[in-house]
Amino acid sequence: MSKRDYYEVLGVGKNADEAELKKAYRKLALQYHPDRNKEDADASEKFKEINEAYEVLSDPEKRAKYDQFGHAAFRGGAEGFGGSPFGDFGGFGFGDLGDIFESVFGGGFGGANRRTGPQPGPDLRLDMEITLEEAAAGLEKDVEIPRAEDCTRCHGSGAEPGTETKRCPTCNGTGQVRTTQSTLLGQFQTVRPCTQCQGEGRIIEKPCTECRGRGKVRRVRKIKVTVPAGVDTGSKLRLAGEGESGVRGGPPGDLYVIIHVKPHKVFQRQYDDLICELNISFAQAALGDEIEVPTLEGKAKFKIPEGTQTETVFRMRGKGMPKLRGYGRGDMHVRVTVVTPTRLNEHQKELLLKFSESLGETVTPKEGGKEKGFFGKVKDAITG
Ligand SMILES: [Zn+2]
Ligand SMILES: [Zn+2]
Repeated sequence: MSKRDYYEVLGVGKNADEAELKKAYRKLALQYHPDRNKEDADASEKFKEINEAYEVLSDPEKRAKYDQFGHAAFRGGAEGFGGSPFGDFGGFGFGDLGDIFESVFGGGFGGANRRTGPQPGPDLRLDMEITLEEAAAGLEKDVEIPRAEDCTRCHGSGAEPGTETKRCPTCNGTGQVRTTQSTLLGQFQTVRPCTQCQGEGRIIEKPCTECRGRGKVRRVRKIKVTVPAGVDTGSKLRLAGEGESGVRGGPPGDLYVIIHVKPHKVFQRQYDDLICELNISFAQAALGDEIEVPTLEGKAKFKIPEGTQTETVFRMRGKGMPKLRGYGRGDMHVRVTVVTPTRLNEHQKELLLKFSESLGETVTPKEGGKEKGFFGKVKDAITG
């Protein structure tokens, strides 16, 4: 028998939005719900089909796949659903119609069922502060991470070795408790995780003496973190599988190391470039000079041309930070400030006056080198 198109099943157009889908689904699901069609075997089939169509079309990712590949996008069709507890369709089993109903009308998908399957462990975050030099060179650092790991005594089961876990009497091992509600639309079953066994389906008779039945213990682990050259504040390194251990055999989470680069005394950083500020004298600026510029590798020589103005920025190619993903390095920007000489002696003042005269300027130094107030300046301007 060929599979019907999901849009056709729900009786909606190809571009039906979320609300339309939900409305169509709700109507059909109520119509064909097995509780209301006990003698009708077709209704149960139909109900399955409706649920399957809605499961796919209500999920944007699955819907996009379906639009592109049709039923071929989900190998094996209905039988493929709910197969792997790790797969996209985890927690979706057709034997469990009450559960489907609950998950659609009572909040998120999969809720109660998912609790009994394996779950990945939580991720961990570690903030690491490094110097700019370390960021430039890259480094390896041992860090200590406190994390939850499976108890080695009970291998995560929580039961004392040699003892058994027993089926939870409250939920009969299903991990779920069903209640039946009567409403205007008929009777509905709701499914909640069992509180006696926390949805596990089994209870421990004798808790493990090491972890006191939790199945997990806290350990501080030393982990080597390799920080690549070129990282910056906010760089995130992922160490797969170094997070907390998984639940019921699920994979461990990941460890994320967030980098913070400390401010540097000499260099400011702008992406892969470095900026440094240097003071030069009036004579150096006017005549040009070879100056020493600090770099990450020590001092480097740099020629400033004659006639350099204050606040000029020079670029030294390839003297910045290494690029994190890629080759080469950023640049160093050297901003020079021309410093006006202070505390000149009489001889130096004379020389400067002569120099100034040679340029055709008239400079009238203030008496005694003292600054006149604002009114003094105004008076000079009027009388001068
Ligand atoms: Zn244990
Ligand atoms: Zn239980």
